[in-house]
Amino acid sequence: MNEYDSDRIKNALDAEPTDDPKKADIIIVNTCAIREKADQKAFSGLGKYKSIKANKPDVIVGISGCVAQLYGDKLLKKIPHLDFVLGTRAIPKLPEIISNIERQKRRTVETSYDLEELFEVEPYHKEGKVTAFVSVQQGCNKRCTYCIVPQVRGDEVNRPLPDILKETTNLVKKGVKEITFIGQTVNSWKESGYKFGDLIRAAGEIEDLERIRFTTSYPRDITKRMIDAMKEVPQVCHHLHLPVQSGSNKVLSNMKRTYTREWYIDTIARLKDAVPDITISTDIIIGFPGETDQDFQDTISLMKEIEFESSYSFKFSPRPGTPAAEYEKVETVDPDIASARLSELQAFQKDIAEKKNLSRVGQIEEVLVEGESRNDPNFLSGRTDHNRILNFKGTKDLVGKTVKVRVTEGLLNSLRGELVL
Ligand code: SAM
Repeated sequence: MNEYDSDRIKNALDAEPTDDPKKADIIIVNTCAIREKADQKAFSGLGKYKSIKANKPDVIVGISGCVAQLYGDKLLKKIPHLDFVLGTRAIPKLPEIISNIERQKRRTVETSYDLEELFEVEPYHKEGKVTAFVSVQQGCNKRCTYCIVPQVRGDEVNRPLPDILKETTNLVKKGVKEITFIGQTVNSWKESGYKFGDLIRAAGEIEDLERIRFTTSYPRDITKRMIDAMKEVPQVCHHLHLPVQSGSNKVLSNMKRTYTREWYIDTIARLKDAVPDITISTDIIIGFPGETDQDFQDTISLMKEIEFESSYSFKFSPRPGTPAAEYEKVETVDPDIASARLSELQAFQKDIAEKKNLSRVGQIEEVLVEGESRNDPNFLSGRTDHNRILNFKGTKDLVGKTVKVRVTEGLLNSLRGELVL
């Protein structure tokens, strides 16, 4: 989501990006507030530009995204070298804000929600890139007790189907082969009588679009219509990111996740009935207020049962204004215990991921080649339909093509292989 917004900011400015902040005329720190660490990163990020502003007073320094939305004008008081604060729904206003600052030298805060312009600025697209995100939804209507998203991104607003299809088609015309639809609870998307399954089917009709992914799905919004579309639209990749957060019914209820462990397991079974080779990844929060050792063991037993392909796991971080920040004051999990649980869970996940990757050795996978491998330019890198990274030796002319690769090695976070000619 943040990467998408950064690319929208680049497009809104219509300016040449630079890797050297000393050469920049405008510096914007785009931020995330989901956990305290991310929010601290925003402040240290801004701190780095203090000396640049001191040496070059005309440079315009701004903050955007969730931290900007959360703290608003308090940021101007706290950070004297900051020129503007741009909320999560204000990207279309950026050119006007910049030109006002240039003309009037007045510091600005724009954190209002203008729904009409919400999806107006599309993201910058780097030429030659074969994958792209398309936003289908902003904000969130769920009220998970730990989550700051509704506070900083507002209620759910769904983008009209023709706009989504237009942006997707334009990207495909530029050479994009794989689209990922993004939204906080992407599969709750509904608009003018259409539901998420209809969106997938409509995207499946776009000529030359080879792969469709979407993230993040909310378990309770998985419907038969969605599962049928996943089964019947050949471009839909056989991987789903489905955050479970906990394996304990008590914790799930305190998080207000609106489903039980049994319901989640049954949903995975329904998905596997329809798409037998589907792989599932997830998010887990450890140390939610009141989490006992038994609750944690319930999470481990769920991981044993489902064997997630991969998981992102986080220590609970109390966020201002959320109900769970209040629970935390009375039912704090000892931070050392939370850290020990997180390490145990991550070690457990590592074993599963290694086992799963090793089981692919000898298989032939279809890989959409995205570019050179970051670690070795002799290797190309792409992803399989199941979202596994696969690196193999090959020449750059294969970028953008879907090729067959035999897996020769299963590593922790990726696979290695050789091109099948
Ligand atoms: N909207 C998506 C959802 O809830 O399913 C994703 C939201 S967030 C960007 C990604 C992950 O961060 C969540 O799935 C959750 O595991 C984690 N997260 C959110 N709030 C958190 C908090 N207060 N402390 C720790 N982890 C948190």
